[in-house]
Amino acid sequence: MSVTDENTTVVIVGSGVAGLTLGAFLLRSGIDCVVLERRSREYVEQRQRAGVVDPRAARMFRERGLADRVLDGAPFEPVLNFRIDGETRPFRYVTDDHVDGRFCPQQVLVRNLIDVFVGDGGDLRFEAGDVTLEDVTGPRPRVRYRDSAGVPRTITCDFIAGCDGDRGVSRASIPEEELTRHAHEYGYAWLTVLADAPANHQSMMAVHDRGFAGQFARGPRASRFYLQCPLDSTVEEWTDDRIWEEIEARFGEPVAVKGRIAGKTLVPLRSVVHDPMSFGRLYLLGDAAHIVPPMSAKGMNLALHDADVFATAVVRQIEEQDASLLESYSATCLKHVWNYQAFAAWFTDLMHDAGDVSYHGEFRRRLARAEFERLYDSETAGRLFGEFLTGLN
Ligand SMILES: Cc1cc2nc3c(=O)[nH]c(=O)nc-3n(C[C@H](O)[C@H](O)[C@H](O)COP(=O)(O)OP(=O)(O)OC[C@H]3O[C@@H](n4cnc5c(N)ncnc54)[C@H](O)[C@@H]3O)c2cc1C
Repeated sequence: MSVTDENTTVVIVGSGVAGLTLGAFLLRSGIDCVVLERRSREYVEQRQRAGVVDPRAARMFRERGLADRVLDGAPFEPVLNFRIDGETRPFRYVTDDHVDGRFCPQQVLVRNLIDVFVGDGGDLRFEAGDVTLEDVTGPRPRVRYRDSAGVPRTITCDFIAGCDGDRGVSRASIPEEELTRHAHEYGYAWLTVLADAPANHQSMMAVHDRGFAGQFARGPRASRFYLQCPLDSTVEEWTDDRIWEEIEARFGEPVAVKGRIAGKTLVPLRSVVHDPMSFGRLYLLGDAAHIVPPMSAKGMNLALHDADVFATAVVRQIEEQDASLLESYSATCLKHVWNYQAFAAWFTDLMHDAGDVSYHGEFRRRLARAEFERLYDSETAGRLFGEFLTGLN
């Protein structure tokens, strides 16, 4: 049996930060939408990933009247703590407006966004299986899925927002010849480690000849650590003892609390952009359209930016029958995406090239070290760096 009598304005596929933010913004503008999420609410609310909402994204929530309800956590400190060959070198960046940013764990942001969306009467359907998109180039696309009880359902809509990440169904529904994929592989991976270990600083990044290491606070009692490693590394090779030993070696100091390690994952560093970010009435948002290396802490912030641009475009179309912002959606977002990709690629190369020479050699190491010094020596270089970090450039 298929229930086919549902209609809405926007079907949002995926309830990550992009989908939920879009849903919250549309709802506040009185626009109907349905969010379909493959996973359970519990799973989505506990999935740990990013931790930085940059000042630009935080300002967006404030302007939409949602900052108090969705943003949690410590304010963004305008300091990056670098540890170079065992010596701490804080870098205080100067921008005109860094104050809004938050160290807000992604799962906290997601939980808050779900509370806002559902609390405001939003229609969010978890455990939606077998989502398929149909007739996306026609005037009224359809989305079919199975609900949590296994009942087949169909929703007809004006627009589909593909917010289902890099491996979702949305981008896969676009014929290959309609999309260009631009990709760059950095040649190394990060072992990402979630541990019950309080951080002394919001962030600490180590450059060392054994490779890059990072520690980022995830709330008052936990940290996420990152360790650069070869692409052919396996999680099994990284015992807990080896992880702590490597962290201590690269930071050049003992770790005060070596708590429980709750998770280990290997992430190959890469940049990917799909162009265009729309096909017919299907629009791609967030990781469904682009991936930035985690060094830059921009992935979640790009997803939030896409949601902002798309929500504004839909509202303009519905309220004023003006399609111009929908037509320029892809170009508007891609300009911002490439700007962030440029910063992310530069920062990723800088931090890794300055350390372990076995990847890109001594010449690149010296170049990276020189660029690093320029951040401290040149007010202009330092200011520009701060503006990119905060998303204000
Ligand atoms: C270890 C790690 C650390 C990171 N650190 C940072 C950081 O510090 N700062 C930062 O800005 N970014 C960071 N990122 C990147 C950031 O997490 C992503 O860019 C962000 O989650 C993208 O949000 P999204 O909403 O586009 O996609 P997602 O968060 O991936 O959400 C997609 C949603 O779609 C659902 N879905 C998938 N397929 C389907 C389907 N077929 N049907 C229905 N639903 C579906 C998924 O279950 C999921 O809920 C990090 C990523 C990782 C992995």
